[in-house]
Amino acid sequence: MQKRLVLLATGGTIASAQSDRGLAPALTAADILRRCPIDNCVGQDIFHLDSSNIQPEEWRVLAAAVRRALRDADGCIITHGTDTMAYTAAALSFMLLDIDKPVILTGSQLPLDHAITDARVNLLEAAEAARSVSRGVYVCFHHKLIAGTRAVKMRTTSFDAFDSVNAPLCGESDAVGLHVYHPIEHAALAPAAFGDEINPGVFLLKLFPGTSPEAFRHIAAMGCKGLVLEAFGLGGLHYIRRNLVGALHELSEQGVVTLVATQCMYEKADFSIYEVGRDITGSNIYSARDMTTEAAVAKLMWVLGKPDVRKELLRQSLCLEMS
Ligand code: ASP
Repeated sequence: MQKRLVLLATGGTIASAQSDRGLAPALTAADILRRCPIDNCVGQDIFHLDSSNIQPEEWRVLAAAVRRALRDADGCIITHGTDTMAYTAAALSFMLLDIDKPVILTGSQLPLDHAITDARVNLLEAAEAARSVSRGVYVCFHHKLIAGTRAVKMRTTSFDAFDSVNAPLCGESDAVGLHVYHPIEHAALAPAAFGDEINPGVFLLKLFPGTSPEAFRHIAAMGCKGLVLEAFGLGGLHYIRRNLVGALHELSEQGVVTLVATQCMYEKADFSIYEVGRDITGSNIYSARDMTTEAAVAKLMWVLGKPDVRKELLRQSLCLEMS
Protein backbone atom coordinates (compact mmCIF):
# COMPACT_ATOMS: atom_id res chain seq x y z
CA MET A 1 0.00 0.00 0.00
CA GLN A 2 1.26 3.48 -0.82
CA LYS A 3 2.65 5.30 2.21
CA ARG A 4 0.54 8.12 3.67
CA LEU A 5 2.27 11.49 3.66
CA VAL A 6 1.57 14.79 5.33
CA LEU A 7 2.84 18.13 4.02
CA LEU A 8 3.42 20.81 6.65
CA ALA A 9 3.65 24.28 5.08
CA THR A 10 5.68 26.99 6.80
CA GLY A 11 6.01 29.66 4.07
CA GLY A 12 9.19 30.53 2.15
CA THR A 13 9.64 31.34 -1.52
CA ILE A 14 7.89 28.13 -2.55
CA ALA A 15 4.64 29.56 -1.13
CA SER A 16 5.30 33.19 -2.01
CA ALA A 17 3.57 35.64 -4.30
CA GLN A 18 4.43 39.19 -5.28
CA SER A 19 2.99 41.79 -2.86
CA ASP A 20 3.40 45.57 -2.88
CA ARG A 21 6.21 45.07 -0.32
CA GLY A 22 8.02 42.33 -2.29
CA LEU A 23 7.76 38.53 -2.35
CA ALA A 24 5.91 37.19 0.70
CA PRO A 25 4.39 33.83 1.70
CA ALA A 26 0.79 33.59 0.44
CA LEU A 27 -0.05 29.99 -0.56
CA THR A 28 -1.57 27.55 1.93
CA ALA A 29 -0.72 23.84 2.12
CA ALA A 30 -3.94 23.14 0.18
CA ASP A 31 -2.90 25.66 -2.52
CA ILE A 32 0.48 23.94 -2.80
CA LEU A 33 -1.06 20.48 -3.17
CA ARG A 34 -3.64 21.78 -5.68
CA ARG A 35 -0.84 23.16 -7.89
CA CYS A 36 1.41 20.13 -7.36
CA PRO A 37 -0.69 17.06 -6.50
CA ILE A 38 1.07 14.38 -4.44
CA ASP A 39 -0.68 11.01 -4.10
CA ASN A 40 -2.01 10.09 -0.69
CA CYS A 41 -0.81 13.31 0.93
CA VAL A 42 -2.71 15.71 3.16
CA GLY A 43 -1.65 19.28 3.83
CA GLN A 44 -1.53 21.33 6.99
CA ASP A 45 -0.60 24.98 7.54
CA ILE A 46 1.88 25.64 10.33
CA PHE A 47 3.18 29.15 9.52
CA HIS A 48 3.21 31.66 6.68
CA LEU A 49 6.70 32.94 7.29
CA ASP A 50 9.76 33.91 5.36
CA SER A 51 12.34 31.59 6.90
CA SER A 52 14.38 34.56 8.16
CA ASN A 53 11.61 34.80 10.76
CA ILE A 54 11.83 31.14 11.74
CA GLN A 55 13.59 30.89 15.10
CA PRO A 56 13.90 28.34 17.95
CA GLU A 57 10.32 29.11 19.09
CA GLU A 58 9.08 28.07 15.62
CA TRP A 59 11.27 24.93 15.72
CA ARG A 60 9.40 23.88 18.87
CA VAL A 61 6.00 24.38 17.22
CA LEU A 62 7.19 22.55 14.11
CA ALA A 63 8.64 19.59 16.06
CA ALA A 64 5.35 19.21 17.93
CA ALA A 65 3.41 19.43 14.64
CA VAL A 66 5.60 16.71 13.09
CA ARG A 67 5.04 14.43 16.10
CA ARG A 68 1.27 14.94 15.85
CA ALA A 69 1.19 14.48 12.07
CA LEU A 70 3.25 11.29 12.15
CA ARG A 71 0.76 9.59 14.45
CA ASP A 72 -1.40 9.04 11.35
CA ALA A 73 1.10 9.38 8.48
CA ASP A 74 4.13 7.36 7.39
CA GLY A 75 6.26 10.31 6.36
CA CYS A 76 6.34 14.09 6.53
CA ILE A 77 7.31 16.77 4.00
CA ILE A 78 8.00 20.25 5.34
CA THR A 79 7.93 23.15 2.88
CA HIS A 80 10.24 25.86 4.17
CA GLY A 81 12.14 28.92 3.01
CA THR A 82 15.65 28.13 1.88
CA ASP A 83 17.47 30.85 3.83
CA THR A 84 17.33 29.12 7.23
CA MET A 85 16.25 25.65 6.10
CA ALA A 86 19.63 24.18 7.10
CA TYR A 87 19.21 25.46 10.69
CA THR A 88 15.67 24.08 10.96
CA ALA A 89 16.74 20.76 9.44
CA ALA A 90 19.62 20.46 11.91
CA ALA A 91 17.45 21.44 14.87
CA LEU A 92 14.71 18.94 13.95
CA SER A 93 17.38 16.25 13.43
CA PHE A 94 18.20 16.46 17.15
CA MET A 95 14.73 17.31 18.49
CA LEU A 96 13.15 14.36 16.68
CA LEU A 97 15.88 11.76 17.24
CA ASP A 98 13.33 9.35 18.69
CA ILE A 99 11.02 9.48 15.64
CA ASP A 100 11.21 6.38 13.47
CA LYS A 101 9.67 7.92 10.34
CA PRO A 102 11.16 10.22 7.70
CA VAL A 103 10.92 14.02 7.70
CA ILE A 104 11.94 15.73 4.45
CA LEU A 105 12.42 19.49 4.17
CA THR A 106 12.18 21.15 0.80
CA GLY A 107 11.55 24.55 -0.75
CA SER A 108 12.45 26.36 -3.93
CA GLN A 109 14.37 29.26 -5.38
CA LEU A 110 11.34 30.45 -7.38
CA PRO A 111 7.68 30.55 -6.26
CA LEU A 112 5.44 27.66 -7.23
CA ASP A 113 3.48 29.92 -9.57
CA HIS A 114 6.56 31.07 -11.50
CA ALA A 115 6.82 29.84 -15.11
CA ILE A 116 10.20 28.14 -14.61
CA THR A 117 9.77 27.22 -10.97
CA ASP A 118 11.96 24.58 -9.35
CA ALA A 119 9.23 23.98 -6.74
CA ARG A 120 7.39 21.16 -8.49
CA VAL A 121 10.42 18.96 -9.02
CA ASN A 122 11.65 19.59 -5.47
CA LEU A 123 8.23 18.71 -4.02
CA LEU A 124 7.86 15.54 -6.06
CA GLU A 125 11.39 14.42 -5.24
CA ALA A 126 10.75 15.15 -1.54
CA ALA A 127 7.63 12.96 -1.69
CA GLU A 128 9.68 10.19 -3.31
CA ALA A 129 12.27 10.51 -0.55
CA ALA A 130 9.58 10.42 2.17
CA ARG A 131 8.38 7.14 0.69
CA SER A 132 11.87 5.66 0.29
CA VAL A 133 13.92 6.28 3.45
CA SER A 134 12.91 4.67 6.70
CA ARG A 135 13.65 7.46 9.20
CA GLY A 136 15.65 10.64 9.82
CA VAL A 137 15.50 14.32 8.91
CA TYR A 138 16.70 15.24 5.41
CA VAL A 139 16.84 18.20 3.03
CA CYS A 140 15.74 17.32 -0.50
CA PHE A 141 16.65 19.97 -3.07
CA HIS A 142 17.61 20.04 -6.74
CA HIS A 143 17.92 16.26 -7.06
CA LYS A 144 20.02 15.94 -3.87
CA LEU A 145 19.06 14.16 -0.68
CA ILE A 146 21.16 15.57 2.16
CA ALA A 147 21.28 14.69 5.86
CA GLY A 148 19.56 17.43 7.89
CA THR A 149 22.76 17.96 9.87
CA ARG A 150 24.97 18.33 6.78
CA ALA A 151 22.96 20.68 4.56
CA VAL A 152 24.29 24.19 3.95
CA LYS A 153 22.77 26.84 1.70
CA MET A 154 25.76 27.68 -0.50
CA ARG A 155 24.21 29.77 -3.29
CA THR A 156 21.68 32.59 -3.23
CA THR A 157 20.20 32.30 -6.74
CA SER A 158 21.27 28.99 -8.35
CA PHE A 159 18.70 26.22 -8.40
CA ASP A 160 21.45 24.03 -6.98
CA ALA A 161 21.34 25.95 -3.69
CA PHE A 162 22.40 23.30 -1.13
CA ASP A 163 25.44 21.13 -0.65
CA SER A 164 26.18 18.31 1.72
CA VAL A 165 29.20 19.52 3.67
CA ASN A 166 31.79 17.04 4.93
CA ALA A 167 29.54 14.06 4.18
CA PRO A 168 28.53 12.37 0.93
CA LEU A 169 25.02 12.88 -0.41
CA CYS A 170 22.53 10.52 1.21
CA GLY A 171 20.91 10.09 -2.17
CA GLU A 172 20.34 11.56 -5.61
CA SER A 173 17.52 11.62 -8.18
CA ASP A 174 17.97 11.10 -11.90
CA ALA A 175 15.83 9.93 -14.82
CA VAL A 176 15.62 6.45 -13.27
CA GLY A 177 14.38 7.72 -9.89
CA LEU A 178 15.78 8.29 -6.42
CA HIS A 179 18.92 6.39 -5.45
CA VAL A 180 19.51 6.26 -1.70
CA TYR A 181 23.21 5.59 -1.11
CA HIS A 182 23.82 6.58 2.49
CA PRO A 183 20.76 6.79 4.73
CA ILE A 184 21.37 8.59 8.04
CA GLU A 185 22.65 6.34 10.80
CA HIS A 186 21.39 7.15 14.30
CA ALA A 187 23.29 6.54 17.53
CA ALA A 188 21.51 4.49 20.19
CA LEU A 189 20.65 6.93 22.99
CA ALA A 190 19.32 6.54 26.50
CA PRO A 191 15.61 7.45 26.44
CA ALA A 192 16.27 10.30 28.91
CA ALA A 193 18.28 12.16 26.25
CA PHE A 194 15.42 12.26 23.73
CA GLY A 195 13.05 15.17 23.48
CA ASP A 196 12.54 18.55 21.90
CA GLU A 197 13.66 20.80 24.78
CA ILE A 198 16.05 23.44 23.44
CA ASN A 199 17.74 26.44 25.00
CA PRO A 200 18.06 29.37 22.56
CA GLY A 201 20.69 31.03 24.82
CA VAL A 202 23.53 30.30 22.39
CA PHE A 203 25.81 32.81 20.66
CA LEU A 204 27.80 32.34 17.43
CA LEU A 205 31.09 34.19 17.12
CA LYS A 206 33.33 34.17 14.07
CA LEU A 207 36.86 35.25 14.99
CA PHE A 208 38.84 37.73 12.92
CA PRO A 209 42.43 38.85 13.55
CA GLY A 210 42.12 41.39 16.38
CA THR A 211 38.88 40.12 17.97
CA SER A 212 38.63 41.64 21.44
CA PRO A 213 38.47 39.31 24.47
CA GLU A 214 35.76 41.69 25.70
CA ALA A 215 33.41 40.05 23.19
CA PHE A 216 33.58 36.85 25.28
CA ARG A 217 32.73 38.79 28.47
CA HIS A 218 29.71 40.39 26.79
CA ILE A 219 28.49 36.96 25.72
CA ALA A 220 28.52 35.78 29.35
CA ALA A 221 26.96 39.07 30.54
CA MET A 222 24.11 38.59 28.03
CA GLY A 223 23.22 35.41 29.91
CA CYS A 224 24.21 33.01 27.13
CA LYS A 225 24.77 29.44 28.25
CA GLY A 226 26.54 28.30 25.09
CA LEU A 227 28.93 29.61 22.46
CA VAL A 228 29.79 28.28 19.02
CA LEU A 229 33.21 29.73 18.28
CA GLU A 230 34.43 29.74 14.70
CA ALA A 231 38.18 29.68 15.24
CA PHE A 232 40.97 29.86 12.64
CA GLY A 233 42.00 26.80 10.60
CA LEU A 234 42.30 23.66 12.68
CA GLY A 235 41.13 25.62 15.75
CA GLY A 236 43.57 28.44 16.51
CA LEU A 237 42.86 31.51 18.68
CA HIS A 238 45.25 34.45 19.13
CA TYR A 239 46.67 34.96 22.62
CA ILE A 240 49.37 37.63 22.12
CA ARG A 241 48.15 41.21 22.76
CA ARG A 242 44.50 40.10 22.86
CA ASN A 243 44.28 36.86 24.82
CA LEU A 244 41.32 34.92 23.52
CA VAL A 245 42.52 31.66 25.06
CA GLY A 246 42.35 33.27 28.53
CA ALA A 247 38.90 34.72 27.75
CA LEU A 248 37.70 31.27 26.63
CA HIS A 249 38.87 29.73 29.92
CA GLU A 250 37.06 32.45 31.88
CA LEU A 251 33.86 31.59 29.98
CA SER A 252 34.34 27.92 30.72
CA GLU A 253 34.81 28.64 34.44
CA GLN A 254 31.54 30.62 34.41
CA GLY A 255 29.77 27.51 33.11
CA VAL A 256 29.33 28.63 29.49
CA VAL A 257 29.69 25.62 27.18
CA THR A 258 31.79 26.35 24.08
CA LEU A 259 31.82 24.32 20.92
CA VAL A 260 34.96 25.28 18.98
CA ALA A 261 34.50 24.95 15.22
CA THR A 262 36.65 25.92 12.27
CA GLN A 263 35.93 28.83 9.93
CA CYS A 264 36.92 26.60 7.01
CA MET A 265 33.90 25.22 5.20
CA TYR A 266 35.48 21.83 4.63
CA GLU A 267 37.19 19.34 6.92
CA LYS A 268 37.64 19.31 10.67
CA ALA A 269 38.87 21.31 13.66
CA ASP A 270 41.67 19.57 15.62
CA PHE A 271 43.31 21.58 18.40
CA SER A 272 46.06 19.05 19.01
CA ILE A 273 48.16 19.96 15.96
CA TYR A 274 49.24 23.60 16.50
CA GLU A 275 50.65 25.31 19.57
CA VAL A 276 47.96 28.05 19.25
CA GLY A 277 45.32 25.37 19.79
CA ARG A 278 46.98 23.33 22.51
CA ASP A 279 45.49 25.24 25.47
CA ILE A 280 41.92 24.97 24.19
CA THR A 281 40.89 22.48 26.83
CA GLY A 282 38.54 22.73 29.78
CA SER A 283 35.53 21.03 31.24
CA ASN A 284 33.12 23.15 29.21
CA ILE A 285 35.10 23.28 25.96
CA TYR A 286 34.33 20.80 23.16
CA SER A 287 35.46 20.40 19.56
CA ALA A 288 32.82 20.73 16.84
CA ARG A 289 35.18 18.68 14.62
CA ASP A 290 33.72 18.79 11.08
CA MET A 291 30.20 19.93 11.99
CA THR A 292 28.58 22.67 9.94
CA THR A 293 27.94 25.91 11.78
CA GLU A 294 24.20 25.29 11.45
CA ALA A 295 24.46 21.85 13.05
CA ALA A 296 26.80 23.14 15.79
CA VAL A 297 24.37 25.92 16.78
CA ALA A 298 21.37 23.58 16.71
CA LYS A 299 23.13 20.78 18.60
CA LEU A 300 24.37 23.14 21.31
CA MET A 301 20.86 24.59 21.79
CA TRP A 302 19.46 21.07 22.02
CA VAL A 303 22.15 19.84 24.42
CA LEU A 304 21.59 22.86 26.65
CA GLY A 305 17.87 22.09 26.70
CA LYS A 306 18.78 19.23 29.14
CA PRO A 307 22.45 19.84 29.99
CA ASP A 308 22.60 17.25 32.78
CA VAL A 309 21.79 14.34 30.50
CA ARG A 310 22.99 15.59 27.14
CA LYS A 311 26.28 17.44 27.65
CA GLU A 312 28.52 14.43 27.04
CA LEU A 313 26.69 13.88 23.73
CA LEU A 314 28.75 16.82 22.40
CA ARG A 315 31.59 14.29 21.98
CA GLN A 316 29.48 11.85 19.98
CA SER A 317 27.90 11.89 16.54
CA LEU A 318 24.16 11.31 16.92
CA CYS A 319 22.74 11.61 13.42
CA LEU A 320 25.67 11.99 11.06
CA GLU A 321 26.50 15.55 12.25
CA MET A 322 30.22 14.85 12.70
CA SER A 323 32.80 12.27 11.85
N1 ASP B 1 13.62 34.42 1.77
C1 ASP B 1 13.12 33.12 1.41
C2 ASP B 1 12.98 32.28 2.69
O1 ASP B 1 13.95 31.77 3.17
C3 ASP B 1 14.06 32.46 0.46
C4 ASP B 1 13.61 31.13 -0.09
O2 ASP B 1 12.68 30.50 0.37
O3 ASP B 1 14.25 30.67 -1.05
O4 ASP B 1 11.91 32.19 3.22
